[in-house]
Formats: sequence, C-alpha cells, structure tokens
Amino acid sequence: MPASAEFQQRLEHRLSSIVEHFGTPFHIYDEKGIKETCSELSKAFGRIPGFQEYFAVKALPNPAIMKIMHDQGFGFDCSSIAELRLSRQLGARGEEIMFTSANTSHNEFMAAAADGGCILNLDDISFVDKVPEMPELICFRYNPGSRRTGNSIIGNPVEAKYGVAHDQILDAYRRAMKRGAIRFGLHTMLASNEREYTYMVETARMLLGLVEWISEKLDIKFEFINIGGGLGIPYRPEENTLDIQSMANQITEEFDAFRVRNGYAPKMYMESGRYITGPHGILVTSAINRKEIYRTYIGVDSCMSALMRPGMYGAYHHITIPGKNGEEEIVDVVGSLCENNDKFAIQRSLPKSEDGDILLIHDTGAHGIAMGFNYNGKLRPKELLLRKDGSVELIRRAETLDDYFATLDFEPDTLGVL
Ligand SMILES: *Cc1c(COP(=O)(O)O)cnc(C)c1O
Repeated sequence: MPASAEFQQRLEHRLSSIVEHFGTPFHIYDEKGIKETCSELSKAFGRIPGFQEYFAVKALPNPAIMKIMHDQGFGFDCSSIAELRLSRQLGARGEEIMFTSANTSHNEFMAAAADGGCILNLDDISFVDKVPEMPELICFRYNPGSRRTGNSIIGNPVEAKYGVAHDQILDAYRRAMKRGAIRFGLHTMLASNEREYTYMVETARMLLGLVEWISEKLDIKFEFINIGGGLGIPYRPEENTLDIQSMANQITEEFDAFRVRNGYAPKMYMESGRYITGPHGILVTSAINRKEIYRTYIGVDSCMSALMRPGMYGAYHHITIPGKNGEEEIVDVVGSLCENNDKFAIQRSLPKSEDGDILLIHDTGAHGIAMGFNYNGKLRPKELLLRKDGSVELIRRAETLDDYFATLDFEPDTLGVL
C-alpha cells in the first residue's frame, strides 16, 4: 500500500487542472490523510496518560503541514536552529519543542534556550558542561551499544554516532543534577522505517527498565521516556503496514506494569516523522524524453533535488501513470543530474508512456523535499497542499535561479598576505 487509493482518486480527479494551473514538477500533500494518521496515532496511544507526539520537523519542514500537527496538539522535534524557528513561528513554545540535536554547537544551545526554551535532549555526556545554562528539565539520548541489535536501516548501535553510552548514563544524570537539573527524561532512537512493531515495544520496555535502574541509583523520578521516531511505512505494494494498534496496546501494558511496580509512570513521548506524512505526499512530474539506448529511459522534469532517497539509499518509490493501464515495459525513470544514480526507478515494469505523460512518484511526504539539494545547479520544486475541501494551495514556491545566486551576492572580503 503506497499512497492510499482514496488519496490517489482525489488527486487524479483534479490532476489535469492542478498540473495546468501550477505546472510540474511539484510535491503534493494530502491534508485529509495527514489528519487521519495524526488522529489514529493519538487514539492508539491515548490510554497512556500524557502521551505526546513531537513531529520530527526534518521529515517535512513546511509551516502549512506543521500547522496541521500543531492544531492536533502535536509538538515538534527539532535538530537545528532553522527547525526551532519554524516551530516557534507557529507558536510552539517551551515543552512543546524537543531539541534532539547531534554534535551540537554553542549557537544551537543558545537558540534552544532562547524564546521560552524547549526540552533539551543531550546527545553526549560532554554537553553537560557545554550547555551554557543547565535547564531544570533535561533529557539524554541513550545508545545501548551491544545491548540491542539495530534495525536494518539505522544499523548496529555500536557503530551509530548517536547518544550516551550505557556506562556513561548514570554519570550523565549525576553531572546534570550537579549543574542544577531537577526534572528528567530519557530518549533513544534505534530504528528507521521499522514496520515490525515488536521492535518498538522492545525499545519502550528497554527505556522503562533503564528508568527504574537510574531512578534507584540516583533517587530521582522520570517525567517521560521518548522512544524516538523510526516507525515504518510500506513503500512497496506487497509490504505490510506497521500494526500501530498492537504496538500501542503492548506499550500501554508496559506502562501499566511500570505503574504497578513503582506507584507512578513517566509520560510517553514519540517523535515520529515518516509515519505521519510519508504516505501522504506524491511527487508529480512530467515525462519529457523517452530515450532508447541499451535500456529504455523515461526522462522526467524533476531529479534528485526533489527526492534523494532512491539515489542515496537505493530506496523504492512506487510509480504510477494515471490513465495508462496498457502494455507494460521495463524502464529506468531518470532525472537530469549528471550522476548515474539520479534514477527514481531502475528496471521497473511500467505502462508504456510517452512525452507529456504525468508520473506519480509515491510516498514523498517525508524525507522528500526536505533532503533535496542544489548539486549540479538543480533547483527544488514547489510544494502544494490538497485541502480536505478539494482546493489546492501553494505552500512553498519553487526555487529560482535568484535563490541559487543569492549566496554569490556578498561584500568582498579578503584576508591579505602579511
Ligand atoms: C530522523 C529522526 C526522527 C524521525 O524519524 P522518522 O523515521 O521520520 O520517524 C526522530 N527523531 C530523531 C532524533 C531523528 O533523527
């Protein structure tokens, strides 16, 4: 199940007029689908008191999308100054923002503390001393090392650059307390695009166990655990969806058991990105050249600047061609970059198409436009939002050559020789 049949139907119903009005290429997102997924998540975990989703801004950093989340009561997970600013522009403040940065700079700590602050999630024990001012509430990102096997995408925790090692974790809280921390959270993020729900249950169980151990050693209580993001979606039609209800049920049981053992339970936080918006975005692009050499290439009017996942990870994105159900052929769908990995699909069976046909590249709602880059002078496309009422709104214009040249417009500055 790539994009839902319902989203495809609503999109295809208006596709020709949308294409005519806005021109290709563009990412288009489905407000209805995003809202439904948000409600589904809130409902599934609703039996855990204080459950809170912090949308991982990096997945789809667009204010119009983030507003949908904020209206549903979600907070934001940020890892840069730009993402903090995006969140605060929407009115998010203080504990509605989680700052989970890696290799954090002084400027980032300053921005995190400014403007009402946020929940600071520290990625290394050394940051205890580097935080300009220790906030009252502090969280650490935990890396279990060899205690846990990683999922296939994020890899082995021992090799991951993130988090505080197991044998540092007690000391991390102890040192934070010395600097004035009095409220505590615990975070980890071990998986990416994981569709096996038991892995997430295992993560929650691990964190709750760790909370008990640290609490006992240091005589503190924890306000929350944050199980990170990484909930997976099916990119291929034959893949199963994550069983969110079973995941929620079993994690709720873990919390209930914790409450029985300890007389209280922390709140549960999550910072999912892909699961919330991934399936609700489609990259709409036009075929502009059919090339027949040793293979057949369908050249389209977008490239890796719009979607890097296939080139970067060899990721599969489902492709459909509305109105074409006839004979299929094996093709590569390619962009215009001078890089041979600029391919949206490799040796894929697709209905025969011709110049001018519209291709829908599915599941671009997360880590799509956000990862785009300007290599080879290629510009990023616009973003549209398909509203619930069927109207379509421009929510980010396409990049222009002026944007590209903006960083070449500066005052001369030379450090001369002695
Ligand atoms: C990327 C990231 C997320 C979101 O990951 P998804 O796979 O989109 O759910 C959440 N938290 C942190 C710290 C991340 O780096």
